[in-house]
Amino acid sequence: MTSPRHALVTGGSSGIGKSVARRLASAGHTVTICGRDSERLQQAAKELSEQGAPVTSLIADVSKPRQVGDLVREAVETNGPLGILVNNAGRNGGGRTAELSDELWREVLSTNLDSVFYVTREVLARGGIGEVDHARIINIASTAGKQGVLLAAPYSASKHGVVGFTKAVGKELAPQGITVNAVCPGYVETPMASRVRQAYADAWETTEAEVLSAFEAKIPLGRYSTPDEVASLVEYLTTEGAASITAQAFNVCGGLGNF
Ligand code: NAD
Repeated sequence: MTSPRHALVTGGSSGIGKSVARRLASAGHTVTICGRDSERLQQAAKELSEQGAPVTSLIADVSKPRQVGDLVREAVETNGPLGILVNNAGRNGGGRTAELSDELWREVLSTNLDSVFYVTREVLARGGIGEVDHARIINIASTAGKQGVLLAAPYSASKHGVVGFTKAVGKELAPQGITVNAVCPGYVETPMASRVRQAYADAWETTEAEVLSAFEAKIPLGRYSTPDEVASLVEYLTTEGAASITAQAFNVCGGLGNF
């Protein structure tokens, strides 16, 4: 059963975030998405609306605390207190550790981990989530949050951080009935997945198609997951039936990780 709530999906203009926005809006929730690029946000909002999944779109860089403050204030002013937060915005990033710049390290950590803290803190402090029944926080981590990924130390570190944050905040908010869980995708076909394959192709001096074959060979189901398969678990976690699930991290990865 689903009681309609106001959901904020960060990075909702692309990939997994867009699929989550589509599923939640189709399930009857009021959905706000955010991203940094106004044109891409408008395009996503138009596409979702044409598919019967209307959303409000707001510009915000979630790695910037001041912009996060404005985002949550505007979201609440527009659509009321938040009952669902999906921390989805993220980026890939890595390379040989001896060659990593401070800038790349900070950029990956601030986009993937600091943002989850900033948005969660703001939604708890001023987003009204404590007033809403069946409130949910869902963080899109990664199987890289449970195992090391070759040539991706900053990414793996950031996603391990997201899993740890989820487990700690899940315990903290349990007495209020707010559940906090992480969803850990493996390989999912999105614009980010293509950028990741290209980065490995460059590092290994091969083609993106070869990298794709090598990755698919590692996945027991033999294929990438779809954004909608990830969104489907996110949607389940928002239901009343998922009320006793908190402080967990679930893989959606075709069997890639079984831990
Ligand atoms: P994507 O690049 O298609 O989408 C990422 C979205 O986040 C984009 O809309 C982007 O604009 C937004 N974003 C990035 N930085 C932002 C910032 N600072 N402020 C606001 N928005 C920002 O990627 P995706 O594959 O859909 O990734 C979504 C999430 O899933 C990420 O957290 C990613 O780490 C995670 N993930 C993806 C995969 C995969 O294989 N695609 C695997 C595991 C985890």
